[in-house]
Amino acid sequence: MIGILGGAFSPIHNGHLFLAEYVMHTMGLEKIMFLPSKKPAHKNVSIMDEADRLAMLKLAVQDNPDFFISTMEMERDGFTYTADTIRTLPDTHHYCFITGADIFATITRWQESDYLLRTIKFVVASRPGTIKLANLQDHLPTWYLPHITYDLADTTKSCYLLPMPELEISSTYIRNALKDNRPLRYLMPESVFFYLQSKYGIVS
Ligand code: ATP
Ligand code: MG
Repeated sequence: MIGILGGAFSPIHNGHLFLAEYVMHTMGLEKIMFLPSKKPAHKNVSIMDEADRLAMLKLAVQDNPDFFISTMEMERDGFTYTADTIRTLPDTHHYCFITGADIFATITRWQESDYLLRTIKFVVASRPGTIKLANLQDHLPTWYLPHITYDLADTTKSCYLLPMPELEISSTYIRNALKDNRPLRYLMPESVFFYLQSKYGIVS
């Protein structure tokens, strides 16, 4: 099974990489697909250029043979919806979608959310400073609640809640730190830090 980690990756950071590594290891996945979004439909913050996000993502995953990038959403015209992505995936593999708790809590507002909940296996990891896994049920349709479990061995379920050692890192912090000249080294791979440094002239 391939785990799909979608995101803006604006920029990629160690929170994303550790999430990918942790889910891959605990769920016994074959590989992780990093799926950068073209233009996030659900947030209106100013995000970095597509070319920069992709360049940093490449730098971040290049030394891990279990990680790869799909640009299928970036290459699609207009807004990108996960439901369209699902229908485009080659059926040579099984897939699961990996999200942090903050993102999964918004799923009823996604395009075709019932279709997504019925079709995809989700792995939802804890994320500090956001909604707790135990409170996720308040944000999901009642019919879906029996499909959720903490028991990774229960193959009858479609949504796995995964408590994880939490890293309080976000792309928002990094974008703000770039503006305010606050420290950001060691929150991401060195290669990504050096890319940001050459682009924005940061010093720490
Ligand atoms: P932004 O602050 O711009 O929203 P972000 O750090 O949340 O950026 P995204 O690209 O929005 O990063 O997130 C992609 C996916 O990775 C989401 O499912 C998100 O929940 C998850 N994620 C990001 N950072 C972490 C983290 N530190 N711990 C656990 N999950 C994370
Ligand atoms: Mg986010």
